[in-house]
Amino acid sequence: MTSTSTEAPIRVRIAPSPTGDPHVGTAYIGLLNYIYARQRDGKFVLRIEDTDRTRFVSTSEQMIFDSLRWLGLNWDEGPDVGGPFGPYRQSERTEIYRAHAEILLANATAYRCFCTPEELEATRKQQLAAKLPPRYPGTCRHLTPDQIAANQAAHKPYTIRLAVPPHKGDLTASTTFRDELRGNITFEHGNVDDQVLLKSDGYPTYHLANVVDDHLMQITDVIRAEEWISSTPKHVLLYKAFGWQAPRFWHMPLLRNIDKSKISKRKNPVSLIYYRESGYLPPAIINFLGLMGGGMPADINAGTEKFTLPEMVEHFVFTNIRVGGPVFDLTKLKWLNGEYLRALSPEQFFTEVRTRVFGDDYLRNISALMQTRIETLGQFGDLTNFFFSDGVLPPPEVFLPRKRTLEETLAFAQNQLAVLEATDWTHEALEPALKKLGEEESWSVKENFMLLRAIITGSTMSPPLLESMIVFGKARSLDRVRRFLDAQKKQGSTKK
Ligand code: GLU
Repeated sequence: MTSTSTEAPIRVRIAPSPTGDPHVGTAYIGLLNYIYARQRDGKFVLRIEDTDRTRFVSTSEQMIFDSLRWLGLNWDEGPDVGGPFGPYRQSERTEIYRAHAEILLANATAYRCFCTPEELEATRKQQLAAKLPPRYPGTCRHLTPDQIAANQAAHKPYTIRLAVPPHKGDLTASTTFRDELRGNITFEHGNVDDQVLLKSDGYPTYHLANVVDDHLMQITDVIRAEEWISSTPKHVLLYKAFGWQAPRFWHMPLLRNIDKSKISKRKNPVSLIYYRESGYLPPAIINFLGLMGGGMPADINAGTEKFTLPEMVEHFVFTNIRVGGPVFDLTKLKWLNGEYLRALSPEQFFTEVRTRVFGDDYLRNISALMQTRIETLGQFGDLTNFFFSDGVLPPPEVFLPRKRTLEETLAFAQNQLAVLEATDWTHEALEPALKKLGEEESWSVKENFMLLRAIITGSTMSPPLLESMIVFGKARSLDRVRRFLDAQKKQGSTKK
């Protein structure tokens, strides 16, 4: 185990951005931070990084809280539980970032950039055309005090950029930092852009806010995903610019799809909501995530690969984590989940079925859709089975509109998926969004909704489609459309 010279009490954090459904990657990184803190009598902090207002989704923060709690990954400090280093939501800390950007301006490690978005875009295009990596060319780096004053007097908007030390002929022409899993990593400054730290609207970028907060919140160990390695030299330069000691960095391997690409919703469900609603058990998910990348000794529990969260806290070894991308293999997760289901007592199992498959609220919502539609209660099951089944997959005679080819139908379904992904899960939002797509693609309302009805319910007859989708939930509905498309692709490739 590593330790700092000052032996500061261990403090770690996760810093999710509320941009959509909570991601399995957040649970994975959350789990590792949780274990790290619990093993070392440290504190586990949850910070919400919500300064990118263009990607902000208002329901996301609560979903992050709910799904991490569902998994049992409780935090010691955070927006909802408070703590001595708050606020823990970055949008409530903007004054702090502005004041810190001023510190960097004053010590000349940052500068004001008055370039307009159009100028920056033109430069970017030129660089791309010349096959150069897009970089800020440093236009505003050497403005004289008079030029800066004139621009400010003219109320020109500006950003504040990090002045990455000169690229050539200088001892500081590269930055090296230690990654606790990989050893030293060096970045030449020629490959490090003069990053925008504060945007013209006064909001910080991720880099500034993240470093300022990690310092002010006294984070000792930054345990995050590998994709942030390339940001780390900027962060290390920022720590230097402020005269602060950087934390230790641990970059965890990225979870991968079976084909080794970065895990994505195209190939795997990635929303924790999906897993909760589809009947996965928290201990199975935790166990599965704990197997990613190693870290648990192989002989635990006689090599069964089964272990609990407390067992992970007891035995997990961070330096044993393998950096090769672990595969998020859904078949394995299902197997594990089955094992955990079988380990329940019959009464516990019944309780899970009763609350998770046939929960009161779910049944009440479904009943409300059925009351006007059935003649005998015995029909209830026939008309609602798609709410309870995982394997709905309509054949072409059900989903294919009469005048459409298979190819154009699948292309349209793909577009429907994109619209559904981007739309709020309410009737008022879904109906116009789907209709707009139909108009754009010249699909009639009937064709459009019949196709979606077939995909979601497996049938041409069903209770009202949008209401049903709302009751069924966004995560599971999207998964159903994706599975449909996947199955069609697979069938298409076996026919060839
Ligand atoms: N806000 C970043 C994210 O969404 C945090 C990355 C980090 O941990 O530094 O993952």
